[in-house]
Amino acid sequence: MASVSRLQDARRLVIKVGSALVVGEAGAADRAWLAAFAADAAHLRGRGQQVLVVSSGAVAIGRRRLGLTRRALTLAEKQAAAAAGQSALMRAWEEAFEPHGLRVAQVLLTRDDTEVRRRWLNARATVDTLLSLGVIPVVNENDTVVTEEIRYGDNDRLAARVAQMIGADALVLLSDVDGLYTADPRNDPTARHLPRISRLTREIEAMAGGANAGAGVGTGGMTTKLAAARIAQSAGCATIITLGRRPSPLAALEAGARATVIEPSVTPAAAYKAWIAGSLAPAGALTVDAGAATALKRGKSLLAAGVCGVEGRFDKGDAVLVRDEAGHEIARGLVRYEAADAERICGLRSDAIEGALGYTSGPMIHADDLAPAAAHPEETGA
Ligand code: GLU
Repeated sequence: MASVSRLQDARRLVIKVGSALVVGEAGAADRAWLAAFAADAAHLRGRGQQVLVVSSGAVAIGRRRLGLTRRALTLAEKQAAAAAGQSALMRAWEEAFEPHGLRVAQVLLTRDDTEVRRRWLNARATVDTLLSLGVIPVVNENDTVVTEEIRYGDNDRLAARVAQMIGADALVLLSDVDGLYTADPRNDPTARHLPRISRLTREIEAMAGGANAGAGVGTGGMTTKLAAARIAQSAGCATIITLGRRPSPLAALEAGARATVIEPSVTPAAAYKAWIAGSLAPAGALTVDAGAATALKRGKSLLAAGVCGVEGRFDKGDAVLVRDEAGHEIARGLVRYEAADAERICGLRSDAIEGALGYTSGPMIHADDLAPAAAHPEETGA
């Protein structure tokens, strides 16, 4: 079954847990559900899979804590509730994972953190570090500080952006429906469940936008789930939509529980390189010597030692062209130093960078952030 193998084969999983699952009847964290979920996630971790949780629930828990339950909240009250609820939410997650010897870490993001490249690189480095330390990052939107215009508003899309940011290969959206149907199964007996979708066609979007749009509590109905799936698909990540409201939803999924899988259209690495190669306007250029040019072709990082020229005014994290000494573009990549610093460390060995700048960000461009020119021949004008 597509959903079982997508879950089992994933190296990195992002699992989105909605407020309706995390928060129990009394407006406090549902500890029994969280404990069962943590056991599920610990099982995945135990066999070497990296797990990141995107958890809602801060506003729902916080409004109860602050006694704001009688009427709809103003924006400021919602943000206050998020502040009060987030700490309780994290405590509940900590307690849930503790019996499994797993530590959690709170990561609060705003839309800019997943869209502005420099912040994106910082957030990615942090999350990568947490994952490699064996910690379970628990991500939520930083509701307390974001304003209406710049917020995601729903954690489905936030989860998809996070999946894209960390190159996850599976995004599990735990929902109050067990996947996507051709019509609303609650009132249409002819509704058919769709186990596997390889292309998000207009027809499929229409199904979600029509009778199914209202399905789903919280902020995200089927429409936001499909928007999330679309982001994930083009980032090389499979989306699995399944029922969350049962004790061990991941174990159930693995045992073959009903789900809809939206297949990715590429691999995460290819998607990321295509993004670097094609969708970013280069802010400058680095000229490299012959040794570095050969190393790049072999998939190595670009070290400062191999850079002999810096052009343009770029910031750390910007996309730059990489040229050989003859001026031919050989790659594009995300540079780790701003232009002035790049110029200062040009030609320096890696162990001399700290002395020159007072800090080091590693190679000029890391191999993961480099797309060879062959990946975008149409862009080079050649
Ligand atoms: N970030 C919100 C919260 O924690 C939830 C957003 C959502 O449910 O999609 O309360």
